[in-house]
Amino acid sequence: MLRTHTCGQLRPADAGKEAVLAGWVHRRRDHGGLIFIDLRDRYGITQLVFDPSTSPTAHAVAATVRAEYVLQVRGLVQIRPPGMANPNLSTGEIELRVLEARVLNECRPLPFEIADGQPVDEALRLRYRYLDLRRERMQRNLILRHRVVKFIRDFLDSRGFLEIETPMLIKSTPEGARDYVVPSRVHPGKFYALPQSPQQLKQLLMIAGFDRYFQIARCFRDEDLRADRQPEFTQLDLEMAFVDQEDILQVTEELFTALVRTVTPEWRVISPFPRLTYDEAIDLYGTDKPDLRYDMRIHDISDLLAGTGFRVFRQALDSGQVVRALVAPGLAEAPRRELDALAELAKGAGAKGLITLAVHADEVRSPVMRYLAAEEVAAIVSRVGASPGDLILVVADERMAAAAALGELRRQLGQRLGLAPKDLLAFAWVTDFPLFEWDKEENRWKATHHPFTMPRDEDIPLLESDPGRVRAKCYDIVCNGFELSSGSIRCHRRDVQEKIFAVLQYSPEEAERRFGHLLRAFEYGAPPHGGIAPGIDRLVMLLAGESNIRQVIAFPKNQSAMDLMMDAPAPISPEQLAELHLQVCVEEEPSG
Ligand code: ASP
Repeated sequence: MLRTHTCGQLRPADAGKEAVLAGWVHRRRDHGGLIFIDLRDRYGITQLVFDPSTSPTAHAVAATVRAEYVLQVRGLVQIRPPGMANPNLSTGEIELRVLEARVLNECRPLPFEIADGQPVDEALRLRYRYLDLRRERMQRNLILRHRVVKFIRDFLDSRGFLEIETPMLIKSTPEGARDYVVPSRVHPGKFYALPQSPQQLKQLLMIAGFDRYFQIARCFRDEDLRADRQPEFTQLDLEMAFVDQEDILQVTEELFTALVRTVTPEWRVISPFPRLTYDEAIDLYGTDKPDLRYDMRIHDISDLLAGTGFRVFRQALDSGQVVRALVAPGLAEAPRRELDALAELAKGAGAKGLITLAVHADEVRSPVMRYLAAEEVAAIVSRVGASPGDLILVVADERMAAAAALGELRRQLGQRLGLAPKDLLAFAWVTDFPLFEWDKEENRWKATHHPFTMPRDEDIPLLESDPGRVRAKCYDIVCNGFELSSGSIRCHRRDVQEKIFAVLQYSPEEAERRFGHLLRAFEYGAPPHGGIAPGIDRLVMLLAGESNIRQVIAFPKNQSAMDLMMDAPAPISPEQLAELHLQVCVEEEPSG
């Protein structure tokens, strides 16, 4: 070993001992006579003292080093002089009086500071990720990630789960995104797909008799990226046989609760996790991934306006739409431009418009006041529970458009007004999703979750008569406004699975070609089974208090799916292309 201790290890009890440390030069302070260096590794920082009068050679080395040089030192541990202790460092009561120093490697001038933790352009951070990862916050995040995954493995092992690897080179398993594909050299013109998830494989493992499976699984989805998405990401993929929905919810909830309690006890969780049906989530919070750290509910006020003469509400209600409202606390005096911005938000989310009512101690003010009866206004104020000083936001629209608009207003106002407690992880279950959603653009049904989800038993007959009304044995776990995971009880019967494929407009031949292996397996004694797959990146992001999953992934892609450090994707050689039987038909980018 090139060291006897790490940079986070020495304590006053070690005073008088000799120690050898190795690490990076975090900071150097030259006091004319003495030189102080903070030496850093992932365990901490130790202050080194170089004294020209006692160790002139070591002092001469210290005089030449720069930030991030790799240094090895031998010295004597001593208690820092009175008043010089640093309570922010675990080693803050001691320092190492250096007798001998050796530069193990030099460091070029840095593209950005490591020590100061100041914000740096993300493209630069990603290009020099190995330097970025030296920064304290990133070290903390990756260490946390390790602890989370380790805890999950131990917990599930103690519950009898087996971790089983599934292949990366497979046939498409659809989760609603495009596949990443890999050309086959030995089978010209054929392609593997990288798994969007191990969904079908874990179901096949249930059929194989491994009734409690999990995997820390890498998944690949070629879709438009957002702050909480990456082209490759990690799931805790989990599946159980001989269970119903309740069993999956229970294990997952116990796992998450124990995880937070053990690994990040600084967070509060609400236990048991609240449960909402999909309809409740949409109607009360305007989204299927509500942020339940604050209450702020959407209220339906349609019934209060049954006799209204106000044209906008009248027309909406007559055509079967809804009128719904949200209270923005304390915004009654919001200036015009702020109200305009809220209206723009509502429109951006798909609503036709936004109507506001400002509640004051002695009156309610609104641009539409003269169209509303006094009783109607009073009933609305009382229904939504608004107090003087509040602003009521009203949307009249089709149910989903109203939900989207009010949900977005709720989210943004929650942020702006700081409604969410900073130390709360508000996990919740959302259940009873519809099995299918109507895709307006493609004019056909799509699976809300994925095509392997089991319908509720009583809804199976509706598969043929009224697919839109079929409810799924499906559940999402959400936290602080993020969807952490979907899961479901699966189809384990060939006939039901075939009916689902039919609704999704797969011809029997197409279903056989794509999913024949699974349909066949169902005929060989497939047990009832179900599972879930929480996203590890999002989970660690939340536990780390970060707002972007790239902060908890060692080597992430940027927003346009590029690896800026390795410069991927990249062209391959004509020889490689030929070997793979591929021809590239994009124009070459103009050089320079
Ligand atoms: N495979 C699903 C997904 O990736 C999760 C599950 O149903 O277990 O969303």
